[in-house]
Amino acid sequence: MLQKKYQMPKQKRIALVAHDNKKEDLLEWVLFNEGSLSEHILYATGTTGSLIERETNLKVHKLQSGPLGGDLQIGSMITERQLDILFFFWDPLEAQPHDPDVKALLRVAMVWNIPVACNRSTADFLISSPLFKNEYEQIIPDYTIYKKPR
Ligand code: PGA
Repeated sequence: MLQKKYQMPKQKRIALVAHDNKKEDLLEWVLFNEGSLSEHILYATGTTGSLIERETNLKVHKLQSGPLGGDLQIGSMITERQLDILFFFWDPLEAQPHDPDVKALLRVAMVWNIPVACNRSTADFLISSPLFKNEYEQIIPDYTIYKKPR
């Protein structure tokens, strides 16, 4: 497959999303990493974002709540190349009313080769990578051929 390159800047555009049973987990992680996260541009689904703003000094661009379309808004931003990294603590033990949206978000993140952390261990590895605070040459799959009429 053809590839394009994108120079991801030092300051990343980051989305934070947590299902209800995972919000405490994400909040703890955000509090621990508040200093690092404050150097980036943060987005979140509605309730997750409100929680982070209430409990930390971070500024968060809040989208709709997940079940009301927030996951799809984040997916759309990824598709438009407006987000660099996704932290998505989804709940593996409870069905969500917006399960199709959850799947859609995870799928477009794969389509566009976005770094995704779905649990705390992966989030720890991601945030402690030197690439997190430095520039990164990201490979973006080039779907030109895919878009040709078949
Ligand atoms: P919320 O949405 O932050 O509004 O709770 C998260 C989700 O369920 O995807």
